[in-house]
Amino acid sequence: MATPGTRLEVDLAALAHNFQYLKSKIPADTLFMSVVKANAYGHGIVPIAKKLAQLGTDYFAVAYVEEAVELRDAGIQVPILVLHPQLHTLETCIERCLEPVIYSTMVLDEFIAFAKAKSQQSYPIHLEFNTGLNRIGMDPEELPEILNKVLNNPSIKIRGLQSHLSASDDLKERDFTLNQIETFKNICNRIEQQLGYTCIRHTDNTSGILNYDNAHYQMVRSGIGLYGYGNDAAHDKNLRPVAALKSVISQIRKIAGGDSVSYNRSFKAQQAMTYAVIALGHGDGINRIYGYGKASVLINGQWAPTLGIICMDMFMVDVTHIKCQVGDQVTIFDQQSTASDMAEKAGTISYELLTGIQRRVQRVYLNN
Ligand SMILES: *Cc1c(COP(=O)(O)O)cnc(C)c1O
Repeated sequence: MATPGTRLEVDLAALAHNFQYLKSKIPADTLFMSVVKANAYGHGIVPIAKKLAQLGTDYFAVAYVEEAVELRDAGIQVPILVLHPQLHTLETCIERCLEPVIYSTMVLDEFIAFAKAKSQQSYPIHLEFNTGLNRIGMDPEELPEILNKVLNNPSIKIRGLQSHLSASDDLKERDFTLNQIETFKNICNRIEQQLGYTCIRHTDNTSGILNYDNAHYQMVRSGIGLYGYGNDAAHDKNLRPVAALKSVISQIRKIAGGDSVSYNRSFKAQQAMTYAVIALGHGDGINRIYGYGKASVLINGQWAPTLGIICMDMFMVDVTHIKCQVGDQVTIFDQQSTASDMAEKAGTISYELLTGIQRRVQRVYLNN
């Protein structure tokens, strides 16, 4: 039987472990929102969401409405928060029972108009406030205007109040983060006083859950932790990486000193050597930053560094000192040599490596 080809192995038992671990870090009555945007950080949105729904997640979060529609089409009935809905998709939010994050007064106006036109009553929305990240969000100064639009408006109801921490993973920025948390609390208090009812407050992402338990509030939003990474070695050891990326050697060739390898002669051999071609490239999500030896792959227990430029569908590695043959398995990252290790060596983060793995790479689900 031929060895399996390039694949992303997704360990659903590891996902369950991480879910239970992160839940153990928050009070029992705090809601848990699973962030499954960007194809569940590359792990495959539908199978991952189905498993998390079965495990009992209270909420899902995606970035865009199209991602939420994929979940609804797959039969997911858990509440879904859309973190960054675009104006042209607000109507779909209502049609597919999605809860939008309202991040500007313009989006608020548009959404209220749709809710009214569709005869909605108390349609649940979440308001996002900027407390220092300076990405999307409304400013505390806009509160009177926002409240004016929201109060006595029967079409909508504020279900959630959201902010996003800028540096929850960087303890050198502790003061800044504590200030964000305090600012958020003050905004929430003011709004709830005016509304006369309480909302679901949420601001902690994975690193927030692990580093700032004073900011759990009524719900936390976790993405990367579910997939096994805690942005810190101390947290990583309690989590289990869910994905392992594997490929195969498709050809082995010998070259002489002076020969070059890959586009633009990007690697030049000093002496005779042997290289192997791996069936994976930047078209699969192995970005060009991993070329020129910035990444190594495991072949029969030994490290083989990349040679020169990563091509679209393949890259070459040095196997001069490795016993191997065509068809041998190649590990790009797994539970021991992790996506986070690989990303860091090339100057990026696990998030980018994982979310970049393209749909062309077959996902194989294990241990369901
Ligand atoms: C992506 C995202 C998250 C999840 O962050 P992790 O660090 O992966 O846990 C939470 N909240 C918002 C607003 C996000 O954009």
